[in-house]
Amino acid sequence: MSHHKVVVIGTGPAGYTAALYTSRANLAPVVFEGAQPGGQLTITTEVENYPGFRKGIMGPELMEEMREQVLRFGTIIKSETVLEVDLKASPFKLKTDKAGYTADAVIIATGASAKWLGIGKDQELSMSGGGVSACATCDGFFFRGKEIAVVGGGDTAIEEATYLTKFATKVNLIHRRDKLRASKAMQERAFKNEKIVFIWNKGVEDVLTQTIETPLGEKVEKIRALKLKDTVDGADSELAVDGLFVAIGHQPNTDLFKGQLPMDETGYLQVEAGSSRTPIPGVFACGDVQDHVYRQAVTAAGSGCMAAIDAERWLAAQGLAE
Ligand code: NDP
Repeated sequence: MSHHKVVVIGTGPAGYTAALYTSRANLAPVVFEGAQPGGQLTITTEVENYPGFRKGIMGPELMEEMREQVLRFGTIIKSETVLEVDLKASPFKLKTDKAGYTADAVIIATGASAKWLGIGKDQELSMSGGGVSACATCDGFFFRGKEIAVVGGGDTAIEEATYLTKFATKVNLIHRRDKLRASKAMQERAFKNEKIVFIWNKGVEDVLTQTIETPLGEKVEKIRALKLKDTVDGADSELAVDGLFVAIGHQPNTDLFKGQLPMDETGYLQVEAGSSRTPIPGVFACGDVQDHVYRQAVTAAGSGCMAAIDAERWLAAQGLAE
């Protein structure tokens, strides 16, 4: 087991910022990239609201910049996924898919992941190439010339629907209410887009499929329609589509910490107000894993900075910073 002063779990804006500050404080942090190196911004297109980029910047490019920036100050990035943590007392123990580690301080920046509808079939088809996805940037291209649906009424759903009009002939935006949660500016842009058709007060009950034979003779189950239920009068209907994009929000990646750290009813880690401190001294949390309110790249980065400063001060108070 190798020992480190600070380990950071996660490489979104929060994790990289925590690494930036702790590496500049000579704490030589080790950062575990996890299953999605760079986090959620690696599956977005243009980021227009991260300060300092007046013309905007592509999400993957922003994360590449952050990665290079932390490497410059001596951060060690490990392409490993943390599978177990033991946070009973410092030094804390971590087991990844490749090795074991101990650390005086742990900064949790594991972020959040896209939610599925909970009907089973949507997530199943997303993994088997069946025409369901939670990432328009990743999969939009496959739906060139096709009619598709997006579920959700927040900024993500509107952004994805708008982006998908580059490829699809028609984008049906299905929302369970008759009002969008998305920001007014985004709503207005979407209302003006002739390729987006709004289907109000409908929930997706099921994804209906058909088996298709590929040119190589392989049989693949593909989406052919959605079974919808009206949320007002309960009436059932069917909508024929070639693809479905699920954009109904995110859930925090906190499974690793169950039973060890307090969480709210939706699984977000709880930290002391105005800080990144969890109830376990030496364990800090930042970014989307502890924030269900703001969930922005810039707020995640800000909280990563807070976690680094909190960790640095805690280590110094324990005489562990040198
Ligand atoms: P939100 O939680 O804001 O919205 C989720 C949407 O999905 C809501 O409309 C909700 O409906 C609907 N929904 C939730 N669960 C279900 C379900 N089981 N079945 C059907 N519909 C469901 O998530 P977003 O991912 O859209 O946004 C998260 C945060 O990220 C927000 O703060 C947003 O502003 C931000 N964001 C900003 C962007 C930008 O500025 N460029 C782009 C994308 C996101 P209901 O409204 O009824 O609750």
